[in-house]
Amino acid sequence: MSAAKIFFNRNALLVTKHGKEKVIVPLLSDAFGLKIELADKIDTDQFGTFSGEVERPDTQYNTARLKILKGFEQYPEIEIAIASEGAFNPHPDCAFIPVNTEIVMLIDKKNELEVSGRYLDLAAHVKESEISSVEEGENFAAAIGFPEYGVILKASPKEIEKPYVLKNFRTKEDLQTAMHFLLSISGNGKIQMQTDMRANFNPTRMKNIEHATNELVNAILSVCPKCHTPGFSVGQVIKGLPCSWCGAPTKSTLSHIYACKKCGHGVEKKFPHGKQNEDPGFCDYCNP
Ligand SMILES: [Zn+2]
Ligand SMILES: [Zn+2]
Repeated sequence: MSAAKIFFNRNALLVTKHGKEKVIVPLLSDAFGLKIELADKIDTDQFGTFSGEVERPDTQYNTARLKILKGFEQYPEIEIAIASEGAFNPHPDCAFIPVNTEIVMLIDKKNELEVSGRYLDLAAHVKESEISSVEEGENFAAAIGFPEYGVILKASPKEIEKPYVLKNFRTKEDLQTAMHFLLSISGNGKIQMQTDMRANFNPTRMKNIEHATNELVNAILSVCPKCHTPGFSVGQVIKGLPCSWCGAPTKSTLSHIYACKKCGHGVEKKFPHGKQNEDPGFCDYCNP
């Protein structure tokens, strides 16, 4: 079963919104000859929004799976579906750094195959501010790169429980009008302003989704040495790369365990980042 051939000329469904097809479709159709259509019957915002109106129902991987299953339900003739899911979480070692994790997942019902690509961005474009005048808001918007990057405005009027959210601005004039309106109804005279994280309003995220799609292509092209199923990819990361001074295990990666989801075959690849020991600066003993 060659990775490039099993998808050739087959129909696939992309369950997505926010313009992500722009980066996902060309990469996957060029690599595998998939014929991808958009699942425009499905509103993926029901699976969570970044501005917080809808909470994500499950983990990132499960949310992508849910989107794909929804696709199979709504388009019963389809055997292959693709979905992407993004998240912003604090960096595990430094809570002030937001990390953008993007995954793009493909499920092939006929071949019982699930493959994902993942990309982590430590320089995610996420900013937030509280403003009390239109001028302050314009400065914030300019600083985050508006209108190329979108902004989301939130205000809490006195009588209403839920904050009032406005977004989708493409021009300075629309943004000004919205700020005037929200300042006039805001209970504390302030507006919360933040970077819009939807892909079509955030070029950095769009780029990260493109990277995750490339990772998906690589994962599909990697086949199990035993049963030749595509998607032989890293299932587990083992930490403990030894310190070059004292030899103690550090938090850096020692090896990647590749696993086949079909036959269970596993292979350990040591030193995946090309170095056999770690700088003492990362060692808890040499540099506490
Ligand atoms: Zn296998
Ligand atoms: Zn050490």
